[in-house]
Amino acid sequence: QGDKAFLGAGAEHVTFAYDEEKILEDYSLQIEPGKITGIHGSSGSGKSTLLKLLMRFWNVDDGKVLVSGSDVQEIPTKRLRDTESYVTQETHLFHDSIANNIAVGKPGAGREEVIEAAKKASIHDFIMSLPNGYDTEVGELGDTLSGGEKQRIGIARAFLHDAPLLLMDEPTSNLDSLNEGIILKSLKEACERKTVVLVSHRKSTMNVADVVWEMESGRIS
Ligand code: ATP
Ligand code: MG
Repeated sequence: QGDKAFLGAGAEHVTFAYDEEKILEDYSLQIEPGKITGIHGSSGSGKSTLLKLLMRFWNVDDGKVLVSGSDVQEIPTKRLRDTESYVTQETHLFHDSIANNIAVGKPGAGREEVIEAAKKASIHDFIMSLPNGYDTEVGELGDTLSGGEKQRIGIARAFLHDAPLLLMDEPTSNLDSLNEGIILKSLKEACERKTVVLVSHRKSTMNVADVVWEMESGRIS
């Protein structure tokens, strides 16, 4: 366990509500270092909420959210952001080149690093097919990028960021099984050096996980 790149996370007796209705109640889970933890559950069960709490986008009403043994409330924001990579359910792209959209994950990254991340996210070939490759402006493409293409750019961004804790919210929901397979394989390789939390409502995606937690409206089983 001496390797700092392997850090765990978890929730201890967490209660959380956006407004009146509790989304999580006395909810606990452990995210083991160096493993892929799958979180499976139906729509609205609180999976994305859990990841947002791990990112400290919201504060819990009760209990603790832990990252690497510390309460997230006590971790300085910069350190927390350096520790966690987060793939959201909807990837937001900026009006900039494809390369810079991936490099958001690591400002100043060289082209080779960007390409390597894009390959792991199974989006390199698509980018190479664009008129200006990595220098293609997202704006030029208008609204032509598919959900799955955007999603893979978001995943490349997270792979480039290369933080020790990788949180992925439905990263393959818009992908066909070929691309999903490539990305899950990259994830498997990535977690030789990091801890992964993989949220999905798809059972097939959970095959790659070492541990699967089932979520039922804020309760874990
Ligand atoms: P899905 O599989 O559809 O992504 P999920 O398991 O990720 O669902 P969450 O997004 O965590 O579910 O939402 C859990 C509950 O919290 C839902 O009932 C949702 O409507 C509610 N919710 C989510 N975000 C907010 C918010 N910002 N304000 C109020 N309620 C919210
Ligand atoms: Mg969700």
